[in-house]
Amino acid sequence: VCFYRELPKVELHAHLNGSVSFVTMEKLIKRKPHLNIEHSMTAIGKGQRRTLDECFEVFKIIHKLVDTEEDVLMVATDVIKEFSADGVKYLELRSTPREEKATGLTKKSYVETVIKAIQRCKNEGVDIDVRFLVAIDRRNGSEVAMETVELAEEFMLSSGGLVVGIDLSGDPTVGHGRHLLPALERAKNCGLKLSLHLSEVPSQLEESDLLLNLPPDRIGHGTFLHPEMGGSQHLVDKVTKNNIPLELCLTSNVKGQTIPCYSKHHFRHWYQMGHPVVLCTDDKGVFCTDLSQEYQLAASTFDLSHEAVWKLSQQAVDCIFAEEAVKDQLKQKWNELRPQMF
Ligand code: 5GP
Repeated sequence: VCFYRELPKVELHAHLNGSVSFVTMEKLIKRKPHLNIEHSMTAIGKGQRRTLDECFEVFKIIHKLVDTEEDVLMVATDVIKEFSADGVKYLELRSTPREEKATGLTKKSYVETVIKAIQRCKNEGVDIDVRFLVAIDRRNGSEVAMETVELAEEFMLSSGGLVVGIDLSGDPTVGHGRHLLPALERAKNCGLKLSLHLSEVPSQLEESDLLLNLPPDRIGHGTFLHPEMGGSQHLVDKVTKNNIPLELCLTSNVKGQTIPCYSKHHFRHWYQMGHPVVLCTDDKGVFCTDLSQEYQLAASTFDLSHEAVWKLSQQAVDCIFAEEAVKDQLKQKWNELRPQMF
């Protein structure tokens, strides 16, 4: 584990409320004993699997525990520090702005609070560069999607570069991306980067084809795009033509049962093509993992040397949404850290 923990890493696909650790969950459960929520309801342990539907039920439970500004601040601060402790040097967190009438949490104060946590960690000298992607939950339809983009736009301008893009996520079996196109186009036109969950389930090929026309700047999962996974060469061509990096989350896909076992993960096909892929955790709390473990898992499953793993972490720097100067700083950091690793 040592090599993988010390390896400097980039995390680009992490949902805030899916990333809550056991320790933080303990604090949340203590704050709200009346909810009668137990750990087993908020995480999927070793060897356990759930359907994707069941995974989405888990998020609903976590949202009950994280419903005040104070909760969001604690969760975001803890998650950032945990990624840093795992050797992550650059993190893009994503989260869906949520309104909770009972506690006065608004979508705006939600985003403000995440930004506050990022700034707090920076002021404390935590060794990690953090950006924020505002998430659109596809279940909430076109109007909310447009409002979310407007909110992100506002914060992109006021947050000093901390809000860099939009994520499209939420239950892939609900709604159709076609209705979300105007919001996504608007985001793109105002300079927000786009990371879209595409083809997470087999039935989304037509939607993926449509959304790839934008084109997105990165793809989350893209599990069923490749012909070997039931997709098509046409879709692969669209992805490769625009050189769109894929964010791949091994444990999440196996525990969420969209992939039968690690060796059948679509990492294999894209990696063999030399296409940019970035290993990510998705929901480190819910799926009981961390990024070091994901790198180790990919290495053992696909027989990657330390050199190959190093290259994988280094190439992830090219896929970040922050400005070129940040990429240059990170590349410098990787160059400095390399000799200590080999
Ligand atoms: P939050 O946005 O509240 O910080 O994080 C939880 C939310 O992220 C979920 O409600 C869901 O919308 C999204 N999410 C987390 N994991 C996944 C995933 O594996 N697939 C999809 N499509 N969405 C996810």
